[in-house]
Amino acid sequence: MIDVLLLGTGAMVPLPDRPLSSLLMRSGGSLALFDCGEGTQVQMRKFHWGFRRLDAICLSHLHADHVAGLPGLLHTVANAGRTAPIRIYGPPGTRAVVDGLRVIAAWLPYGVEVHELLDGDRFELVGGARGRVRDADHRVPCLAYRLDLDREPAFDPVRAEELGVPRPLWSVLQRGEPVTVEGGTIQPIQVLGERRQGIACAYVTDTRPSEAIRELVHGVDLLVSEATYAHDD
Ligand SMILES: [Zn+2]
Repeated sequence: MIDVLLLGTGAMVPLPDRPLSSLLMRSGGSLALFDCGEGTQVQMRKFHWGFRRLDAICLSHLHADHVAGLPGLLHTVANAGRTAPIRIYGPPGTRAVVDGLRVIAAWLPYGVEVHELLDGDRFELVGGARGRVRDADHRVPCLAYRLDLDREPAFDPVRAEELGVPRPLWSVLQRGEPVTVEGGTIQPIQVLGERRQGIACAYVTDTRPSEAIRELVHGVDLLVSEATYAHDD
């Protein structure tokens, strides 16, 4: 299961009802934020997904409209009681920008791990999604992100009823663990169907069209792609 929330779609011009571009993703109870312009935490507060489970922040690039919200958000995550480290992904130069912004957010009760990614790099999010980046075509180093998430095989409730598995034990089988019913053991394979195709989504912003992006987003179920036009367009 993966939930995607577009916190803002206003490109580089925030309006009262249309904040800067930012996207929040939730899978397996873990949150990952894509870009963090000024005011991102205000939008996050509106939707009540919480702050403490924010495990990763993925930055496309280091322009202010994509990163200036970081210090305030890091403080709010601290106030929410987080102690586990948070990972910040971004293009080369991210460490220097995060260090600079942290001059005004120096003390945090959790670690901040910065991972600078290069074209083609892969990484894994806490919720189990596998990430991959390609270089976007912007004026500065810019990353486009793709996430792939495996799906568990479908659960067959009719078969579970036939085998006499009580409903409270269904979730155990769904997790892939056997259960004991009336002295006998029921294996997950008895109530789970074929393996299902995974889910893929991509976040692409501030880029001209490019072959690398086309390759990255090929076959995704959801593509969030935002662009503004040049003056002569
Ligand atoms: Zn930009």
